[in-house]
Amino acid sequence: MNQAIGIFGGTFDPIHFGHLRTALEIRQAVELAEVRLIPCYQPVHRQLPLASAPDRLAMVRAAVADEPTLTVDDCEMIRGTPSYTIDTLETLRATRPNTPLCLIMGIDALLGLPGWHRWQDILKLAHLIVAHRPQYQVPRTGHVATLLKARLQTSPLALHENLAGNILLHPVTQLEISATYLRRQIAAGGNPRYLLPDAVCDYIHQHGVYSFTQL
Ligand code: ATP
Repeated sequence: MNQAIGIFGGTFDPIHFGHLRTALEIRQAVELAEVRLIPCYQPVHRQLPLASAPDRLAMVRAAVADEPTLTVDDCEMIRGTPSYTIDTLETLRATRPNTPLCLIMGIDALLGLPGWHRWQDILKLAHLIVAHRPQYQVPRTGHVATLLKARLQTSPLALHENLAGNILLHPVTQLEISATYLRRQIAAGGNPRYLLPDAVCDYIHQHGVYSFTQL
């Protein structure tokens, strides 16, 4: 079996230090070969992004240009259809039959998992690594609670023993940065510096991303 890899999908509108620190800490703690950041083309569980798909992809690329363990996968952009995670996992699994795939998400995303397209198939293709955020409670009843009861592992090592099917809750440094807040600040003329990488800040400035939008 190959070394496990992480997959971290998101709208990344824009990518910020909350996303990046989560990806880096989980890669280290779980000893993943890499974490692939996969910006979605068109999200299906939320409103459409404000920045264009090429701008969001360029910002993710700029954010990790000097960090070799965080890579960018543009497969959802190339597909150019509504971005279902299950489709991305099926494509990755076809090219990597012997690699444990670890889908990384915040606990807020886990709570919405039962609304995802073919959500029960996701754990047939990947493990879940859930970045624990203290303001969210782990549910005690419902689909997610049942899933956790059956699949929860306490050791990262378990994710290296199987290709898919386990869930790990992992605490990460809490950076309560929100992309929604950033978009609003920038649209109102605020400076987003120190909440996201300088390279992303420069891109936003140079390309006028978010500048003229009303939220
Ligand atoms: P928005 O405010 O536009 O909804 P978001 O950052 O919450 O933005 P995404 O870019 O789609 O939305 O998030 C991608 C993933 O990053 C999700 O799994 C989400 O749980 C996680 N995430 C978002 N913000 C943080 C943060 N500050 N710390 C850790 N994880 C985060």
